[in-house]
Amino acid sequence: MGATVATGWALADMDSLSSRGLKRFLEPLDSPQGPLVRVGGETLVNFSSNDYLGLAASPSVRAAAIAALESHGVGSGASRLVVGDTTVHQRLEARLAAFERAEAALLFNSGYAANVGTLQALVGPEDAVFSDALNHASLIDGCRLSRARTVVYPHADVEALDRALASTPARRRLVVTDTVFSMDGDHAPLRELVGVCRAHGAALLVDEAHATGVLGSRGAGLCEELGLSDAVDVRMGTLSKAFGVLGAYICASRPVVELVLNRARPLVFSTALPAALCAAAGAAVDIVEHDDALRARLWRNIRRFSQGLRSLGFAAEPRSAIFPVIVGEPGLAVSAARALRSKGLLVKAIRPPTVPEGTSRLRFCLSAAHTEGHVDLALEGLRSLRL
Ligand code: PMP
Repeated sequence: MGATVATGWALADMDSLSSRGLKRFLEPLDSPQGPLVRVGGETLVNFSSNDYLGLAASPSVRAAAIAALESHGVGSGASRLVVGDTTVHQRLEARLAAFERAEAALLFNSGYAANVGTLQALVGPEDAVFSDALNHASLIDGCRLSRARTVVYPHADVEALDRALASTPARRRLVVTDTVFSMDGDHAPLRELVGVCRAHGAALLVDEAHATGVLGSRGAGLCEELGLSDAVDVRMGTLSKAFGVLGAYICASRPVVELVLNRARPLVFSTALPAALCAAAGAAVDIVEHDDALRARLWRNIRRFSQGLRSLGFAAEPRSAIFPVIVGEPGLAVSAARALRSKGLLVKAIRPPTVPEGTSRLRFCLSAAHTEGHVDLALEGLRSLRL
């Protein structure tokens, strides 16, 4: 195929990305997710996966997927509202609602789809959304698709949010936040956010993508840990991270779930998750809820890594499985990642627009499947970088 008009656009824009150290590329794995992965013929210790509990390759999760693959086939054929829904989807929603101690749960094909669809379903042009400055891109895109007026408040700044709510009247007002921020691993001030929302009659939607399976006595996230599950209007969780599968869900009151099912465009206009993945997710929920030893292993690794980072002079609180090591410019982050790679460590450089300009970083994600030896290797690798 010859050069098309779009080829010219692509070449110009890619030149610009390359010159700023922002070009991205794919690196295919030749293995399942796990603490050790095969990449380009090498075996590397994986510190970039969100598979926090090591369930992506779990035998019982795989077995559940295989059984449902046999009973229900591969593709789901249509959107859930057409003929893509199955008893397996329904059972998973009931299981998730029970796990989250919520009235109802609703599945989405991804966390991205859940956030975009739920925001667009709940608020519209007459409404206002208040969004933390470091919220995940899917919440930001949900604000855009909803066409609600969007007020971005400074990261975790409850007083600024309070002032913004006081000065922004609207038909409906919705506050949205990650509970564990995806690139920094810190927590939203959830108790204070609940208080401010109550004071202003605003609804609160929280994204527990990086908290589910990691925080809370049964792994039901920061809301569970703080005893606030009933105080939040909509809680979103992903099945793609600690559960090791794919997809996501919201949990909320039955009327909210019914409205979102009727309106969310990513749900109405997209083919349903395959039943096999729903069955796999159900098996993963059982493990997350009942296998406390797995979460305890993750937290032992988190504490070990955080202590090691502090002894290297980095500020590192053990708050979640995510640890950023900020290096600044994108080129520096890429060369640091390359140096770690030469020591057998897979740690990706995270650059704008995923993080703000000047805060490019190495992002370490820990897993219950890492050994102490793996954690120590990461620390040794960082020490050798002399950042
Ligand atoms: N929310 C947050 C906070 C995330 O980090 C992510 C994934 N990176 C998502 C939502 C999207 O989830 P998914 O990957 O399942 O689409």
